Amino acid sequence: MSSRHSPELSGARATSPANTSAAGEVGRAPLVVSNFINGEFVAPASGAYIDDIGPATGEVIARIPDSDARDIDAAVRAAHSAFPAWSRTPVAERSRLLLRLADLIENNLEELARLESRDNGKTVTLARRLDIPRAVANFRFFATAILHYASEAHPTDGVALNYTLRQPLGVAGLISPWNLPLYLLSWKIAPAIATGNTCVAKPSELTPLTANRLAQLARDAGLPPGVINIVHGLGAKAGDALTSHPKVPLISFTGGTVTGAKVAMAAAPHFKRVSLELGGKNPNVIFADADLPEAVKTSIQSSFANQGEICLCGSRIFVERSIHDHFVDEFVAATKQLRIGDPWDEATDVGALISAAHLEKVSGYVELAKQEGGTIVAGGRRIDGAGFFFEPTVVTGLGCDRRVLQEEIFGPVVTITPFDGEDEAIAFANSTRYGLSATLWTRDLQRAHRVAAALDAGTVWINCWLVRDLRVPFGGMKESGVGREGGFESLSFFTEAKNVCVKLA
Ligand code: NAP
Repeated sequence: MSSRHSPELSGARATSPANTSAAGEVGRAPLVVSNFINGEFVAPASGAYIDDIGPATGEVIARIPDSDARDIDAAVRAAHSAFPAWSRTPVAERSRLLLRLADLIENNLEELARLESRDNGKTVTLARRLDIPRAVANFRFFATAILHYASEAHPTDGVALNYTLRQPLGVAGLISPWNLPLYLLSWKIAPAIATGNTCVAKPSELTPLTANRLAQLARDAGLPPGVINIVHGLGAKAGDALTSHPKVPLISFTGGTVTGAKVAMAAAPHFKRVSLELGGKNPNVIFADADLPEAVKTSIQSSFANQGEICLCGSRIFVERSIHDHFVDEFVAATKQLRIGDPWDEATDVGALISAAHLEKVSGYVELAKQEGGTIVAGGRRIDGAGFFFEPTVVTGLGCDRRVLQEEIFGPVVTITPFDGEDEAIAFANSTRYGLSATLWTRDLQRAHRVAAALDAGTVWINCWLVRDLRVPFGGMKESGVGREGGFESLSFFTEAKNVCVKLA
């Protein structure tokens, strides 16, 4: 591990008095994060705060509200009051405000990238390249998509005219995870408010900083009070209060499969509309005719980008037997080139895992891999010292029925398993309860389409990975989720279709 620490990051090991500014900034003192309700930064009703730990240092970098049902209720009431005016605001005006917010995020890209890196442990280079630009794109995309959201009309045999109104539902409850904090929060807020809903968002308690900054930028952009409300705190308390609140008719949730089931149960008695974007255990299938250098290079990304903490990472690699050993050699050599360390160092490839608990979980799966008979051919160890670092790890010799190939590890750990022929590749790829995404490497066009159709996955990448187009449907099959978001799917999810029938004759 690199021992280099940028002066700024070292400075983040703060013991000085809390910075009480409402919005986050990349400073030396721990920040105090506030809830954002009705356009104001406010303390939690309980007065209690939770420590936010910086993954690269293990130090407290912020204190965030330990919100409960009272804070959620205040936010829902604010959102509810703002809804009539916001839903009647002309689409062009809503679009203009969202575009202004996108511009402000872009103007503050470097600060936001540093905040995200400090809070999550991801490299600042990734935050600069992926997370923050994607937040900008989310607001721009839905600001303009809403201008083109047409609905249908049917002249019914000259007797009646049937047309569809697409109306916002009211207060949208939005819950997001820690792995892509601003990226996923904005993926929910942008379509929710573009369509005329107001919202209450609960970001992960592990990564509150960019959400806190977004609140200030939303205010600066001129969004009316109550349109965006952000309540920080624990999922079991604040999150549960939001999913079970009777005045929140719609929940968009991204997180783990176990939590998704709890969200669905809390929402069920109220018959809420629910979108669940859940976990994955994605296959990366490499046929013998693949462009091998390209497959190795991209598979390193799909395995270890963001420390493997992307729901779309391909953690199960399947390689056709004739090239298996060669692939393993090349992949292991490339893995060993990765530089682990200070996320603020421009040369770092792999930053810190989100938390001490997650480091324990990842280490535990590597121990389990050994117990299950696997061979660790690269990495396998945590890095001693401050922060939560784990080596990029490659495991061979395990079959599809092993727990390590069945359960989501969500860290820098991949398995490589050989297969014989197309049918076995498909069977191996589909052998988990998940179905989020899959990657496929082959030069055979017919096989590419055949296998893509047979894979249990909401997204299939052929000869590439994480090439995202915001217009396409996004979501998971099986236990990776319910529903689709993205493009018109999001606009549809965040609106209620109402049929109006007018008698003509
Ligand atoms: P998580 O533990 O399920 O938490 C997700 C969010 O739900 C957090 O804000 C969490 O709050 C909140 N939460 C926890 N319990 C809740 C409850 N009972 N009611 C309402 N909300 C509750 O997931 P995570 O560890 O943050 O994220 C990692 C998981 O997300 C992985 O499984 C990954 O695959 C998945 N993910 C999926 C996608 C996708 O698009 N399909 C994208 C990214 C990540 P606190 O944590 O603050 O307590």
